[in-house]
Amino acid sequence: MKTLKIAIQKSGRLNEKSVEILKNCGLSFENYKSSLIATVANFPLEILFLRDDDIPEYVQDGIADLGIVGENVIIESGANVSYLQKLGFGKCTLKIAVPSTSTISDLQQLDGKAIATSYPVILEKYLKANGVDAQIRNISGSVEIGPGLGLSDAIFDIVSTGGTLKSNGLKPFKNVMDSEAVLIAGNGMELNEEVQELLQRIQSVLRAKATKYVVLNVEKSNLQAVVDLLPGVKSPTIVPLFEEGWVAVHSVIAEQDFWEKINNLKAAGAQGIVVMPIEKIIT
Ligand code: ATP
Ligand code: ZN
Repeated sequence: MKTLKIAIQKSGRLNEKSVEILKNCGLSFENYKSSLIATVANFPLEILFLRDDDIPEYVQDGIADLGIVGENVIIESGANVSYLQKLGFGKCTLKIAVPSTSTISDLQQLDGKAIATSYPVILEKYLKANGVDAQIRNISGSVEIGPGLGLSDAIFDIVSTGGTLKSNGLKPFKNVMDSEAVLIAGNGMELNEEVQELLQRIQSVLRAKATKYVVLNVEKSNLQAVVDLLPGVKSPTIVPLFEEGWVAVHSVIAEQDFWEKINNLKAAGAQGIVVMPIEKIIT
């Protein structure tokens, strides 16, 4: 049987979470900073540690079967790969930013202006789609100093908090693209049993991460109101307490509406609410 290869970032913003998700899938491997390749002891898989920019092409060319990389890098590379799964980390937004003092309010006002970026492909597509004729200055790093140096009138870059923009006298103007890390495969690659197995494990880890396990106590008279708020995987588990008239309810709730749910549960009569992380959900 052929050993699968998955390419992940060697160091940088996606490295830690990529390693974590693979480890949470039960894969056992050594993660030395110096190594370029690691063999998984308990699955027919090798992990290649690469610069993120190289990952889409390695996967496209079949040097790696799978890869974990940001959507922005995939689109920028123009590589022909297919998305298997969004992974929920490495989230960021690519934005056009202009000097804080700028009065620009309309995209068309960028006509004839210079925009500095490390993402010329994504920017060009966006400008074209919006009929803007701006000049793209392709620079590889520290794009945000462009306007200060007189190199460009605007920039196009990844913005997370906006702190870097602000400290360089810039402000966000247009959101162009949201990105997150995704699992990719070569286009048309056969998704054999091992790939399917890995994908299922990743999905069960993602499902678990998006949910919490909740145990709470409630008086029987309030039980229906509490149960109405809780879906569970199928439905909640109800266990009698030693104290007459009381039960414990076990369920899972979505992380995203966690606080709202907890407050509603309390209002419905839930007490002693215990919340625990879930490792995996196999459906
Ligand atoms: P490499 O050495 O692998 O080429 P890099 O310097 O190009 O690394 P990183 O800064 O590690 O890249 O970012 C990798 C990816 O992380 C980005 O392409 C993007 O998808 C994602 N990302 C998430 N948040 C941010 C952010 N605030 N700034 C930059 N990238 C981010
Ligand atoms: Zn890179």
